[in-house]
Amino acid sequence: MARALIIGGGIAGPVAAMALQKAGFEPTVHEAFDRTADGVGAFMNIAPNGLDACDCVDLADVVRKAGFETPAMAFYRHDGRRLTGDIAFNRVSGTGNTTVQRSDLYVALRDEAERRGVRIEYGKRIIDAQRTGDTVRARFADGDEAEGEVLIGADGLHSRVRNIIDPAAPAPRYVGVLNAWGCVPDYPVEEAPGVIRMFFGRKCFFMYTQAPGGELRWYANPPRPERPDPATLRGGNAWRDELVRLFARDRMPVADIIRATPDVPAPFLNCDLPTVPRWHRDRMIVIGDAAHAASPTSGSGASIAMEDAVVLAKCLRDGATVDAAFRTFEAQRRTRVEAVVAQGKRNIEGNLSGPVRSMVRNYFIARTFRKPQADGRKTLWVHNHHIDWG
Ligand SMILES: Cc1cc2nc3c(=O)[nH]c(=O)nc-3n(C[C@H](O)[C@H](O)[C@H](O)COP(=O)(O)OP(=O)(O)OC[C@H]3O[C@@H](n4cnc5c(N)ncnc54)[C@H](O)[C@@H]3O)c2cc1C
Repeated sequence: MARALIIGGGIAGPVAAMALQKAGFEPTVHEAFDRTADGVGAFMNIAPNGLDACDCVDLADVVRKAGFETPAMAFYRHDGRRLTGDIAFNRVSGTGNTTVQRSDLYVALRDEAERRGVRIEYGKRIIDAQRTGDTVRARFADGDEAEGEVLIGADGLHSRVRNIIDPAAPAPRYVGVLNAWGCVPDYPVEEAPGVIRMFFGRKCFFMYTQAPGGELRWYANPPRPERPDPATLRGGNAWRDELVRLFARDRMPVADIIRATPDVPAPFLNCDLPTVPRWHRDRMIVIGDAAHAASPTSGSGASIAMEDAVVLAKCLRDGATVDAAFRTFEAQRRTRVEAVVAQGKRNIEGNLSGPVRSMVRNYFIARTFRKPQADGRKTLWVHNHHIDWG
């Protein structure tokens, strides 16, 4: 049985491990951090295309159980007026959307992988890898080594495997806004819970979702055209006040929600990774954010990472050689994932528009989603993706 070394136990890593196990491989996941890092992070949406990919390896229910269902989304203007009604996610694909705490998803995927017999090694930070004949050998920071027939770099935005494959690989690109988020334990909103509500403020984009228990989770993209030094970014009261000021002229519930947030975490840089010219060489390949990262604002990075994991396992199952499988994978994936990343960047530019472009954006959003299903299919093309495992 061929051994697959999977580097990274985030999202793409465990999903790839379970898919490869189903494809007849013997996978081991090597994760840099200890389990204690699990409690860190914000929340995310797993879109219909991510759940579709998970379905191929009987994982969709695991993801759903880790979070809560968010069946629809809606867009609002800076004055609080609706641009759209509630747009059901399943209008294009028949599948809904799940909102989940990032750390809960990591734990659920790893626990399920271990339950299925996948070995996960913690505290294994890859520093180098080399091919020898038909195998590839990985070296870790703690001095350990591991060998397999294939090495899959699912080690995220700041991937080391990407640089091992190509020392000239590009670094992530800062896109001019920050990721800010917070959580209000019990916030009274009038609308139904479970809808992702997105507001185009005059100065800043904001969205929130309310969990069935009443907890409200929000996310915002304060603009910072010049890339700040991440070490200077602080959370707390001063940051809360700064965010409240950004929404002061908007007639939306946003400023009140931010005021009610007990702890406002430090923001971090919003980055993407549009084109990595070299995804593979010598039995090593990168997938997920390591190969192509969509800005968090796109709400798509995790879902396309799940797609990658399943498609790669399928290609390795069906390919005559590892090299052929990698080429097929790249041929099937590159155009789609780069288009998703580009869409994410366009979303951010749209959110930063001045008054005239904002009016045009609002007009098109309102018009598109007023129309029947066929147009939703075109607009929600990212979600409308199906993998046939068979
Ligand atoms: C605030 C925020 C909100 C987001 N919201 C959404 C959303 O709503 N929807 C969505 O689809 N996506 C969202 N994303 C993007 C999403 O989180 C990523 O696209 C997704 O996590 C990518 O999965 P991955 O497995 O490729 O990488 P990661 O999830 O980053 O996993 C990489 C793993 O590799 C490990 N690792 C790193 N370096 C090494 C090394 N040298 N050796 C071994 N292990 C290593 C890391 O510790 C980590 O566990 C969001 C991101 C952020 C930051």
